[in-house]
Amino acid sequence: MDFETDVVVVGAGPCGLAAAIAIERAGWRALIIEASCVVSSIAGYPTYLTFFSTAERIEIGGMPFVIATEKPTRRDALAYYREVVERHGLIVRQYERVEHLETAREGFIVHSRPRGQEVRTTRARAIVIATGYFDSPNYLGVPGEDLPHVTHRYREGHEAFMRDAIVVGGKNSAAEAALDLYRSGARVTMVYHGEGLSPSVKPWVAPDLQNRITEGHIATRWRSRVVAIEPAAVVLDTPHGAERLAADHVYLLTGYTPEHELLHAIGATVERATGIPVHDPATMETDVPGVFIAGVISAGNDANKVFIENGRGHGELIARRLTAMWSDPAASHEAHAGR
Ligand code: NAP
Repeated sequence: MDFETDVVVVGAGPCGLAAAIAIERAGWRALIIEASCVVSSIAGYPTYLTFFSTAERIEIGGMPFVIATEKPTRRDALAYYREVVERHGLIVRQYERVEHLETAREGFIVHSRPRGQEVRTTRARAIVIATGYFDSPNYLGVPGEDLPHVTHRYREGHEAFMRDAIVVGGKNSAAEAALDLYRSGARVTMVYHGEGLSPSVKPWVAPDLQNRITEGHIATRWRSRVVAIEPAAVVLDTPHGAERLAADHVYLLTGYTPEHELLHAIGATVERATGIPVHDPATMETDVPGVFIAGVISAGNDANKVFIENGRGHGELIARRLTAMWSDPAASHEAHAGR
């Protein structure tokens, strides 16, 4: 069969880019197809975010990520990953969504749709799914969640100056957003089903937030859930009964869960209880030979266990497996026979 590339990598996040670099270094051709822009999840982070990780822990492909401060900002990271793509000459088809994966007699057929265009197909010998999780927030499933003043992403607080802002969630995104909104002049209430702020809030963020709460500058509703969102209010279920709070802006910072649509399409098994795709952690190959996963998708429902710093190495495991398969016809035959 005439393959257009050896490997299609689905997703141009840091782990997808790292996988493409490792695959090319091993001597195989990699083509990255990305539904949005390169590192779109980072592009969608809060505008003024500073990473929790130090720069060297999120560098990929051995390219130094040098900054003058301790931890990189969102802008530093965007500049760095753009440079990685250029320096390594990676081929990335941006704004092209992979809609379906199909097993062919040999290899795979990738069906993708460039923005505003017809579906196109690409033939590849192997697939790496590195789609991350930021495209699929955890929905509350309450009425009004789709109203225009409701968002599952936080960008910056200016829009809520002198207005009522509700932040739902009790971990790091919620904590940082509540502080930023307060400092942008919003009237902030945090709503969280836990007993108090989650212990996973970083130790350099928690005291600041706790002090603002103690001073009464940030209101809280612990052990409370949003049961409905209205155009100018949220309705809560609290330990003291139902409560309606004024809300001009509602930030649902409830985390994310990876989507498995493409894995299901190609016939790969995802463990129902954990959401983890069945795979060999030594090679990242799924139970469909030739289909691999990289990055946070490997963590399943407990997605916060895999970050850039421990997902960036998946590409090397994949590249080693490809070389074993394709340089050794016996291994390759064995892999393909499983289909
Ligand atoms: P997260 O850590 O998954 O936290 C989600 C929060 O929403 C948790 O408090 C969770 O409750 C709550 N929640 C989930 N589903 C809910 C539901 N249906 N109804 C109500 N509440 C719900 O998500 P995140 O804070 O967005 O963080 C995501 C990742 O980004 C983490 O790895 C984090 O460390 C990272 N992060 C990095 C930075 C940075 O680098 N500066 C900043 C923020 C976040 P439970 O507490 O009960 O689980």
